[in-house]
Amino acid sequence: MTLFALALACSTAPDTLTPPPVEARLPAEAPPAEAPPPVEAPPAEPEAPEIVDRPLPNAERRLALSQEYWRVHYGEPPEPLAITPRVVVLHWTVTDTADAAWNTFAPAELGGRPELGGGVNVSAHFLVDQDGTIYRLLPDTAMARHVIGLNPVAIGVENVGGTPAHPLTEAQVQADAALVRWLAGRYDITHLIGHLEYRSFEGHPYWAELDPDYRTTKPDPGADFMRQVRQEVSDLGLEGPPG
Ligand SMILES: [Zn+2]
Repeated sequence: MTLFALALACSTAPDTLTPPPVEARLPAEAPPAEAPPPVEAPPAEPEAPEIVDRPLPNAERRLALSQEYWRVHYGEPPEPLAITPRVVVLHWTVTDTADAAWNTFAPAELGGRPELGGGVNVSAHFLVDQDGTIYRLLPDTAMARHVIGLNPVAIGVENVGGTPAHPLTEAQVQADAALVRWLAGRYDITHLIGHLEYRSFEGHPYWAELDPDYRTTKPDPGADFMRQVRQEVSDLGLEGPPG
């Protein structure tokens, strides 16, 4: 009976009522921090790291050779040719400068290494210099030839160095981690591996290589570098090599 009277009073003469408990008044008197979100809401995906475009030349010839490589190694290529990024593969260049690496990747055709089977040159989507500068060499969804069996789903990140004179650096750990974080926000990336780990994907649904004899053994970019990068992006929950 009291509640009914109160409700009735509320609807007819609100000014005469005792103010409701503090909790009940909070929505109307919320502090600024709980006000509607500010106009500049945080972005839905991680902020892009600074990336310097340094596109590889010979794009038309590279595309034609990539289509041929795809046909030989994976079957009928999609039209237009594009990868579906699921895996980020880290590498080292075994060259001491970014210029040397870029010059190696620049020709569309692979010279002098017929044992690697197929004419398109090796390349990668990104090249990270010793000081952490990130260069973009190819569009994210272009096919780069950088990892047997996984190119249709793999974004390649090359790191300048890996030689006794120029081991990989802390700046490269941080740059690779920022790049992986950004890519994971843009694509459905499920795995982060080093090139040295790629063969563990044999038998995995991502594995696409048709030639059972086409394999290499790779040491790059070193287990310690992988451990450091993984530590930086552990919150992303990316998987390592299967199995
Ligand atoms: Zn490699």
